[in-house]
Amino acid sequence: MSKNLTLGIIGSGQLGSLLCQSAKNLKIKTVVISDDKDGPAQKYADYFIFTDYNNKEKVKEFIDKVDVVTFEFENIPIKILESIDKEKLVIPKPKVNQIIQNRKLEKTFLNDLGIKTTEWASINSAEDIKKNKNLLPGILKTNTLGYDGHGQFVINELGDIKEVSNFNNQFILEKKVNLSKEISVVLSRFANKQTYTYEPIENIHKDQILKYSKIPANITEELFKKSQNIAKLIAEKLDYVGTMCVEYFIDKNEILLVNEIAPRVHNSGHLTINAFNISQFENHIRAVCSLKSEKIKKISNAEMINILGNEIENYRKKSFNKEEFFYDYGKKEIKKKRKMGHLTILKK
Ligand code: ADP
Ligand code: MG
Repeated sequence: MSKNLTLGIIGSGQLGSLLCQSAKNLKIKTVVISDDKDGPAQKYADYFIFTDYNNKEKVKEFIDKVDVVTFEFENIPIKILESIDKEKLVIPKPKVNQIIQNRKLEKTFLNDLGIKTTEWASINSAEDIKKNKNLLPGILKTNTLGYDGHGQFVINELGDIKEVSNFNNQFILEKKVNLSKEISVVLSRFANKQTYTYEPIENIHKDQILKYSKIPANITEELFKKSQNIAKLIAEKLDYVGTMCVEYFIDKNEILLVNEIAPRVHNSGHLTINAFNISQFENHIRAVCSLKSEKIKKISNAEMINILGNEIENYRKKSFNKEEFFYDYGKKEIKKKRKMGHLTILKK
């Protein structure tokens, strides 16, 4: 593909904003389509389309304006992705989304590759939980549309089932892992199969939302390599193009389990903007738009703090030194626990 192309991005949150900024640096034009009229990415896109994704005319306008399409979030109805893909290439492929946007298919895909996940079972009724009480204490997760802990219920004992208001959703029940650590591996894979794998990132979640990330992760050399190799294997098996992330649990016995796959740029990879020569965002644009790939190189160790809800107000008043990089996503409304910005601090 030539450099003069226009990239369509589905979704207008902070990931979309950061993708647009990287695209601009690479002289790629962007058109963002979103059902959030306040989505911050509209400030960085060359063109913004606000619409319900089911509006065929608006989606057609989007298709007509772009050469290739990518997305910032995985929960786009698969039918819509497939219909766009018929006219303009969607990268990563909708088939990848189909697997990953459904926890049951995602875990089955991983287990079939011999990759360890949490122990889990498919759940459609309270009765199914009783049949799987060996998985308690556990976490009941909706099969689809979960993010930042939405759609999750902790079931410590059978009595907690009544907290779940309905079983109209399909769920999976996962055994609660006795966590020693959480890490993630971000990688970018190009159509020519060249793959650039960032080093494992150590993550701390609070109330199921990412709060803090750092490199280097405090893990053994063995887990460092193993986590990178598993991520590469997943990317290869999905024939993946673009940036993706694999989230892992490490339990108290140092067992590495895949938690989930994100077929997109990832919050834990934000520190790559300042800590690497090429960020996860730039690499995603390069891969999706078939630009030249370049070897990644770490410039610095780093930490990243997610700024949630009204914490942003204090950060907006602060001054920062030259190792500190403050990103304000410029979201219109401050909501409790909403990701409002992040701070990356480069470290020795
Ligand atoms: P989301 O799709 O919302 O990111 P995750 O499944 O990644 O959902 O869960 C969010 C966080 O909740 C995890 O990063 C972890 O901290 C915690 N968590 C989720 N599942 C488990 C589990 N089975 N055992 C222990 N902690 C868990
Ligand atoms: Mg997660």
